[in-house]
Amino acid sequence: MKNLIIIYLLIFSFTSASSQFRTNYPDIPRIDVHTHIGTDLTGIANCLELRKILLDSSAIDLAIWINLGGGNDPIENTAYVLAASKGRMLCAIADYAAHDGLKYRPEALEGFQKQGFVGYKIWSGPWYRKLEKKEDGKPYIDDPAHEATFSEMERIGFLAASIHIADPNGPWEERTDWLADPIEYWAEINAWRNVLEKHPKLIAVAAHGNWMLCQDAQIDYLRNLLATFPNLHIDLAATFQYYHLVNRDNLRSFMIEWSDRILFGTDIGQWKDKGESSLRAEQYTRAFRILETGDTVKGGFFGGPEIRGLELPIDVLEKIYYKNAMRLYPQVKESLLTLGHIVK
Ligand SMILES: [Zn+2]
Repeated sequence: MKNLIIIYLLIFSFTSASSQFRTNYPDIPRIDVHTHIGTDLTGIANCLELRKILLDSSAIDLAIWINLGGGNDPIENTAYVLAASKGRMLCAIADYAAHDGLKYRPEALEGFQKQGFVGYKIWSGPWYRKLEKKEDGKPYIDDPAHEATFSEMERIGFLAASIHIADPNGPWEERTDWLADPIEYWAEINAWRNVLEKHPKLIAVAAHGNWMLCQDAQIDYLRNLLATFPNLHIDLAATFQYYHLVNRDNLRSFMIEWSDRILFGTDIGQWKDKGESSLRAEQYTRAFRILETGDTVKGGFFGGPEIRGLELPIDVLEKIYYKNAMRLYPQVKESLLTLGHIVK
């Protein structure tokens, strides 16, 4: 019984703390540039319901999602998703098996761009090689077979949307989804650096902070990457639960210094049960509180240990939440204006 009371108190304190949160920035629209909602109509409708929950409970204006497909559920028709989402979901074409050769021919990219796809999501992480015993590690992102695609993306200005390069590497050994081998990790990162060197006009948003937000020394390297390659950007998807691993002041000053190059994202997937929408709203609320407040937040978007919020200045939040996305992704500004959002 005593345990039950403790559990009840824990749940109560958790939900009440979150549900009482009201943002100080109700006028800033937020764009989630990294989502895997896919094309299922129920999943898309649930996003609109989630938006309403956040607006009603916390005055948070979650305005637009960039839909990168649902993994094995690539998007073939962006107009259908745009209509189902009432103009709030823009789509990228996606390829989650770059190791088999890129799925779309370079000549096809301009057609996708004209159809309204906002970019090309490429997944080039390392874990599949282990799964498929491709231990010899071919190909990396700088495989010569990818050259023509990146050249075409440069030529037509087609964004590398949430391109996934490596998995995180660090000292947190109990994590089985981390890339434990630092040699392999840096081989992935160096391959990406080769691509950026060869394709200086490629506009890229690297997923998950380029997986360089989990160690302070990696954040330093990320500063160097961003300084060297002015068309490189990062999204924050799935990084929030690791912020306790780095020095808060270092992470905060990094975000302020590079705020023109950082975009909000979550990595949220599809959920079909309507009852889950309020849980998803809690996840979003935690991520926004980490960026906006100095509160101690009970975990990141995907849970994890307590994290003290970064309390970023309003001009930094505006850039991370929507201004950078508005600059980089086609149709975002027009969509925000059409939907009645006030943007500067
Ligand atoms: Zn993702």
